[in-house]
Amino acid sequence: MNKPVTSRPRDFLSTRKQDLSLYIHIPFCTSKCSYCDFYSAPGDSAAVAGYFRALRGEIDDYADFLATKDIVSVFIGGGTPSAVPPSYLRDVLCHIESITPLTGAEITTEANPNSLTSAFVDTVTEAGVNRISLGIQSLNPKLLRLLGRAHTAFDAHAAAELVTSRGLNVSVDFMLGLPGQTPSDIDATLDFVDRYDIPHVSYYSLIVEEGTPLYAMRDRLPFLDDEADRALYHRASNGLCHMNRRSYELSNFAKPGFECRHNRRYWTLENYLGFGPTAAGNIDSLRYKNTASREAYIKGELTYEMEHLSTIDRINEWLILALRTSEGIDPEAFARRFGRNFDAVYATPLAKHLKRRTIAEEHGRYVLTDLGKDLANTVELDFFTL
Ligand code: SF4
Repeated sequence: MNKPVTSRPRDFLSTRKQDLSLYIHIPFCTSKCSYCDFYSAPGDSAAVAGYFRALRGEIDDYADFLATKDIVSVFIGGGTPSAVPPSYLRDVLCHIESITPLTGAEITTEANPNSLTSAFVDTVTEAGVNRISLGIQSLNPKLLRLLGRAHTAFDAHAAAELVTSRGLNVSVDFMLGLPGQTPSDIDATLDFVDRYDIPHVSYYSLIVEEGTPLYAMRDRLPFLDDEADRALYHRASNGLCHMNRRSYELSNFAKPGFECRHNRRYWTLENYLGFGPTAAGNIDSLRYKNTASREAYIKGELTYEMEHLSTIDRINEWLILALRTSEGIDPEAFARRFGRNFDAVYATPLAKHLKRRTIAEEHGRYVLTDLGKDLANTVELDFFTL
């Protein structure tokens, strides 16, 4: 991204009729996890009130733009949305609804087991939330402690019980690649999915980010080697497949019809706006990211990183995202979008990976094989030919 600028992304956006998704960042957490480098921190009630005032101001800034759009999905993420009083989330959704209808939109909020209450669920669902994404990460008490999670396995069960008993559309996040993680840890997560009939599951790999407490202790931790790590991924993936949760993206699994609409729009480079510090937006070729300071944001001192992506940047991004999905690369969609012949442009990497069986052709599309999934990063690199 380019250097921070004060000109507004809004100035570059058109008010023609389009589908749009919204991301709303809630930069508050009850405590900080040991691996986390997301923009979030604990905050007192004055900071929360100030934040939501500023958020309303940012949304208002886009009001004429929003009024011309069909909102397909809203994702309230963080941070921990369930760490703030739910009336704030209700008011944000009502405010957006006063500008543009949210009828028919998939509206997700993230929540953590330690801060999820029935009052939170009641308030946000009355305001239109129809999907809850629970950050559970692990059910192993030792791993939860290592990760610095504020919840226990017991809290995770209570949270799942609460949201599923309301008949909500639920997703859970688990982590892979944890130090000392074993097959029985994966089996516990699979049993959890089965027990609560969770329709959507994500397994994200731990990334040890520089500057985090986990990074400081990395040399003392029993990280798995690649082979053991991939074995756990396949154990999770196969287990979910047996439960009819299909892998529709490398890290995401869902019962048919429960795929996350919001994520799918990211992966196909559809337009979205991001509100809040560090939130990113993507409108046509414009990409921006908001200032990473909650304090500056509350004072209304917004700066952005902005860039206009070139066609080649868009092609590269589209290819990588498409390759990670179960639909894979559709040469016809590529031709419609970029006016180029996929098979001709990528003849060399295609021939190489079809021969190595890291990519297979299925119904006219190119998809990663199981071997290709294990080597996804290297396969992707070979398609950076433009
Ligand atoms: S709950 Fe999520 S956002 Fe908050 S500190 Fe933990 S990982 Fe980071």
